[in-house]
Amino acid sequence: MSENIKGFCLQGREKIMPGSEGSVIRNTVVIDMEIPELQEGEILAKTLYTGICGSDNSACIGKSNFDWVERPRVIGHEFSAEVLELGPGEHGDLKVGDIFTPLAMLGCQDEDCPACSVSKWNLCASKEIIGFHRNGGFGQQVVLESDRVVTLMDGLTPEQGALVEPLSVVVNALYKKCNIQPGDDVVVTGCGIIGLMSAEVAKAAGARVAITGIAHDRDNRLRVAAEQGFMTIEVSPENSLTSQLAAGITDAGGIPFGGNGKVDVLIECSGVPPVLTEAINVVRPEGDICVIATYGKEVSINATHLTRTSLNMRGSMGSCREDYMVAQKLMVTGVFPAEKYINHYDFKDVNQAFEDSIKANNVKAVIKMN
Ligand SMILES: [Zn+2]
Ligand SMILES: [Zn+2]
Repeated sequence: MSENIKGFCLQGREKIMPGSEGSVIRNTVVIDMEIPELQEGEILAKTLYTGICGSDNSACIGKSNFDWVERPRVIGHEFSAEVLELGPGEHGDLKVGDIFTPLAMLGCQDEDCPACSVSKWNLCASKEIIGFHRNGGFGQQVVLESDRVVTLMDGLTPEQGALVEPLSVVVNALYKKCNIQPGDDVVVTGCGIIGLMSAEVAKAAGARVAITGIAHDRDNRLRVAAEQGFMTIEVSPENSLTSQLAAGITDAGGIPFGGNGKVDVLIECSGVPPVLTEAINVVRPEGDICVIATYGKEVSINATHLTRTSLNMRGSMGSCREDYMVAQKLMVTGVFPAEKYINHYDFKDVNQAFEDSIKANNVKAVIKMN
């Protein structure tokens, strides 16, 4: 049934340095896909727009925190798609032609599951992530469970639809795991799209926000952040966040940022172990640290300092359906200006899109799939 349906497929496990010379997508290949027959509860959809996630990049460069992903796998969990065909079984109100984004994480839905019984599929021990546990949005067509479909809100474009999932992750982290108050000073560490989204969502909550990056980010990600009105802090081993805050940072109006070198909230989006180690030094007593990133190795933390400063350090995993609804609303109403952050690619340039993303030479790659 497949008439040359292509997919961007993860197949290798080679460990690749993201900054290395030459191609960094040696673990991937564009394939012709076979579309399997639809099973009970499944639908077939035409993929419209798919975003590249930092986790896709990590899997592509063989980072150990994605060793568990079976290869070969057509990846992609941030996408919008149009329903082509409903398989056997019940599909509720869903019909052919509907445009949707999937819940990246599908829970077991067992009524005895402590996470699924309270609709937190993101915390289910046997959750399945589309694009990692089964083929996902980097196929030009995708088969998935209609249970995970979220039809797009009126006014949301299919391209914005590809950003609902990452924004929902930020909504879950910032509105449920941090206690951001109007007037707070917030540092976001890491200026990938989750960092940039966190900066926007924190600003929307009334905070003053600074975002960190490295020298490589100066001309793209940090520049975009500055254009959006955020304070930007370029860090290096010689010029750490701790030392720059201690020396005193002021905003564009000359008003000091942070007090005594400490901020109220830090949101860790870099995935770089020493950044999290350092984080506890720059947050005031009883302030919040929210960890959205995952790490390729263990991170050492001065736990005694954590105790003595009564810091709140919390992790935040994924998101659930209600976060998707908030994320859509933030885009439809312009609170999150998606268009400022998207780099557009066509599917024929998918390899380039991944090269650019892995090398951090863009902001948020979104691929037009068909
Ligand atoms: Zn993701
Ligand atoms: Zn479950």
